[in-house]
Amino acid sequence: MPDSVSLSLLARHPLCRPEVSGLPRYNAGLSEDEVRRRYGLHNIVKLGSNENPYGPSPNVIAGWAALADRLGRYPDAAAEKLRHDIASVNGLESSRVLVGNGSEQIIRLIAEAYLSPGERVVTVRPAFGLHEIYPRMMGAEVDAVPVSSDATFDLAALQDAVKRPTKLLMFANPSNPVGCMMTGAALQDLVDACPSHTLIVVDEAYREYAEEDPDYADAQAILEKQSRSWVILRTFSKAYGLAALRIGYALTSSVEVAKTLDTVRDPFNTNMPAQVAACAALADDAYMKDCIRKTVSERKRVAEGLRSMGLFVAPTWTNFVFVRVPVPADHLATELLKRGIIIKPWKEKRFENWARISIGLPTENDTLLRAVADLAL
Ligand SMILES: *Cc1c(COP(=O)(O)O)cnc(C)c1O
Repeated sequence: MPDSVSLSLLARHPLCRPEVSGLPRYNAGLSEDEVRRRYGLHNIVKLGSNENPYGPSPNVIAGWAALADRLGRYPDAAAEKLRHDIASVNGLESSRVLVGNGSEQIIRLIAEAYLSPGERVVTVRPAFGLHEIYPRMMGAEVDAVPVSSDATFDLAALQDAVKRPTKLLMFANPSNPVGCMMTGAALQDLVDACPSHTLIVVDEAYREYAEEDPDYADAQAILEKQSRSWVILRTFSKAYGLAALRIGYALTSSVEVAKTLDTVRDPFNTNMPAQVAACAALADDAYMKDCIRKTVSERKRVAEGLRSMGLFVAPTWTNFVFVRVPVPADHLATELLKRGIIIKPWKEKRFENWARISIGLPTENDTLLRAVADLAL
């Protein structure tokens, strides 16, 4: 029997690593069912998670029933067909492509494979939570460079930050949650400022929404010219409408980087329906582009609507808007929840007055705009 001294020591010293006990929780947002239950509502407008409101390509739906016959078998552990298709769309060898259970899993694999305690990671603030959480889980020090007051990347501060020893530079372009975009010239300057041993990770979860802008950085073209290690992250969760299936991918600088990540990957990390659906979605570029066109046009309407109410909306190259409100964003989010509308209030220090609102179907956006107007902020 342990005595009372060792019992109280155990209480003060949890068994897990200190990096884990101090870790902030990722805010995954509320599900529709949870909001229905909590507020006794039926119709929910879900604008909190940046999904594609039009869902996946009809090609995905058409092939869906046939998958039932194959549910008894393990998926292809190497996801050969999907990696082959991704490689040919992106013009590189499939040995440099890795797929993950969502691109968030690949962020975790990068942290697990590359980061040791005390190593320095440069990212931005506010940022996608996992860009900070997974490095900290490994004991790395995270240096988050705040965005400028006009809600754009602070390029000078970023260039300064990477001049000190940096193991990993990781950020999303376009940014989540701000929505801002880094140009090719700016990315080139940032890459040039990085020491040669820095692993550069550009998370392009929203690239499809920004691609039309000729200034948007073509990270692959820029990084291919470098003799250094890099990873570009992409996902099927946003523009391709497959968030439920959990599938994303990485393009890597070399077979060596892909192999390193593959070494720490769970053997069957992506499931069969997700692999098949991702291939079908990737093959229907026209459908995806049509979703983008509709969302970009709605984005303009939502941003203008919110601005006409006197709110500051950050310029955005994504499928969401980041808006500053004159009350704590948490209050706004709670008021909207009572009306069945889910948005994402930003809970980080200095950004408590900002909310991220995804672009939904036109009718959902109407509901949102009407509700915000009624609240007369
Ligand atoms: C949504 C998002 C992801 C995660 O995508 P999954 O493929 O669904 O895991 C990654 N990075 C950023 C910046 C995102 O916004």
